[in-house]
Amino acid sequence: MLDRHGIRPAACAVRGEYLVAISIPVRQMPPFLNPAVQAFTEAVKDELIFVQVLIRVESNGFSLRHRSDDLRSDSDLADSNLSNLRRLAQFTADGRYRPLSSAPDLVSGWRLSVSTAEELGEAMERLYPGGIADWYAARSDFPPVTIGREFVSRQSGRYRVTSELTDPQASEVTRACCCSEFCLKRRLWTIAALPVDVPRDKSVFPCLEPCALWLDFARWAVVSDREERRPVSVSSGEAATLKMALNRCIDGGVSRGEDIPFPGHPHRAARLLQRLESQDDSHS
Ligand code: SF4
Repeated sequence: MLDRHGIRPAACAVRGEYLVAISIPVRQMPPFLNPAVQAFTEAVKDELIFVQVLIRVESNGFSLRHRSDDLRSDSDLADSNLSNLRRLAQFTADGRYRPLSSAPDLVSGWRLSVSTAEELGEAMERLYPGGIADWYAARSDFPPVTIGREFVSRQSGRYRVTSELTDPQASEVTRACCCSEFCLKRRLWTIAALPVDVPRDKSVFPCLEPCALWLDFARWAVVSDREERRPVSVSSGEAATLKMALNRCIDGGVSRGEDIPFPGHPHRAARLLQRLESQDDSHS
């Protein structure tokens, strides 16, 4: 209970025979809003697309939905809530586990309303863990972007071999792994003089450091390239069949539940396809 001065008696002390009220002023502490979330909320303005999520400012807060549901009416979409959002982001529409939150296969057909900036930050964290923090960090004058070559040189254990990655291997691995068919993060780290990604081709979600999938694939590439090579001669018709088969492996992206050792893994297929296409270029 506050007195008329806005003071709450917090404790009583006995002085002689009298009880003396000790009072402390009550101040309404402003709710702490993470600066990254605050900046993100301000960036939304009327609406913002973050990877595959469309965020709109509404009279009572914010609404979120898959960007492909832009024109669908609210009644066509299933109501979601903060507690089931993480699960929604973990599986594709046909129930496959998504190992990469930035893979372009976020399920559609849902909508979510949140009323505060904190809730918006929480929702985005469940859909794209680390997304707002990295987006905010990338806006600074000196974004904490890893240098790919330094990253592989400090690996240990089973990933130590990635320090042997040559520039052509690093380039192939990165183009195969980080392409927009598999990941919508905008790669800002570089290796082998590769240019960084531009938001137009992917999204505003920056990638500041190689992820575990990239590292696994880089390791596989180094080990695989040590194997003896077999000369294979194919006609142009056979090469076309091979490319079609590789494209089928690529379809479905990284959420197919296969690991790199699987011969039809999409990253492996994308790398081999690059090699076939570069041979075509050199023969034309
Ligand atoms: S390293 Fe490549 S695949 Fe991994 S998150 Fe970054 S951009 Fe995506």
